[in-house]
Amino acid sequence: MKRKRVVVLGATGSIGDSTLKVAHDIPERMEIVGLAANSNADKLAIAANKSRARAICLVDERKVDVLRSKLDYEPKVFLGEGGLREIARLEDADMVLIAIVGTAGLHPALDAIETGKDLAVASKEILVMAGEAVTDAARAKGVHILPVDSEHNAIFQCLDGRRSEIRRIILTASGGPFREIRASELGSVTVEQALKHPTWNMGPKITIDSATLFNKGLEMIEAHWLFGVPMDRVEVVIHPQSIVHSMVEFADGSMLAQMSYSNMCFPIQYAVTWPDRVANTLPPLDFSTLGKLEFEIPRYDDFPALNLARRAGETGGTLPAVMNAANEIAVAAFLKRQVRFPHIWATVEKVMDRHRTVAHPDLDAILAADQWARAEATAAIGKK
Ligand code: NAD
Ligand code: MG
Repeated sequence: MKRKRVVVLGATGSIGDSTLKVAHDIPERMEIVGLAANSNADKLAIAANKSRARAICLVDERKVDVLRSKLDYEPKVFLGEGGLREIARLEDADMVLIAIVGTAGLHPALDAIETGKDLAVASKEILVMAGEAVTDAARAKGVHILPVDSEHNAIFQCLDGRRSEIRRIILTASGGPFREIRASELGSVTVEQALKHPTWNMGPKITIDSATLFNKGLEMIEAHWLFGVPMDRVEVVIHPQSIVHSMVEFADGSMLAQMSYSNMCFPIQYAVTWPDRVANTLPPLDFSTLGKLEFEIPRYDDFPALNLARRAGETGGTLPAVMNAANEIAVAAFLKRQVRFPHIWATVEKVMDRHRTVAHPDLDAILAADQWARAEATAAIGKK
């Protein structure tokens, strides 16, 4: 079997860490050939020294001296946003794994597709923003999009190519740290409480999204684009243990689920080795300690993110990009303690209400809607 040569964008984050672990675990199947990060020069250098990637990229050019001083070999160094796009086009790479938080990975993703590489996508934001553009480009080029998000990777595993026979997709959600909190108390939760995810250890933005349930909302739209399933067939169920990573119900009423511990190395490895399954050192499920698996219906009225995302996904056009951009601004404001927790969805709703949706937007219209939503959300927060 051929080793897959992988470029990792967002190499210093939580997904980046897990990706490096997978590469270390299955060296005969995976080789890291490129690594990119925003500004953490120290961590990028450590990852490069360990993986011996032949190319690396640091977006924040001011840190290049730190980077060079810490490298113990001489990879090709790309810099800036332009460098990120160049490393996404790296010659002799088979796959680009996008693990950049937010939407900065959109252009590099399109660059990777254009140069004929498969795309492994952790950055759900780019599929929410521009799902049609990305999936159309991949289809036109004949490259694969492999989902890394655990739910979508689970669905991909369950489907095993049987797309046309789907009746329902059921995304599982942990429910986040506030699953059982009274609605009246949501206004006084702290940033620290919101950052304590019960089952997953992730970067700050997605952790806050998991607390509001916007993460699951974004994932509904992500599933729609990845699997070509209409929004009304994408449902959400709360599963506090995060062992069942999602389920597919087929036309005959049978349902398949994928299970493992909540460790992103499982989906990352499958995205890299697909269609093969390869032995590794990850812990198998231990039923003697697993305990109960529970499922419950989400509290839609107390966590409006799910209904907002359904509305955005069903309306389509530029509205998902607007929802995503407003959410990014509102989450950043919450992390800076400028707004309270419920203001996150209140801000998103306000911006969505003010937006005039453009149907079937091209990339420029999407980028314009994204910028408009960021400005609107910033203004809405300023008025608080
Ligand atoms: P993180 O905050 O831990 O890391 C973010 C990474 O993106 C860093 O390497 C950073 O250098 C890079 N980055 C940020 N802004 C950038 C920019 N402008 N240009 C280039 N690089 C930039 O985030 P994370 O938790 O690893 O999440 C990354 C993506 O994966 C997100 O879209 C998230 O929704 C998705 N995801 C994460 C998990 C998880 O377990 N962490 C699970 C599913 C999906
Ligand atoms: Mg997920």
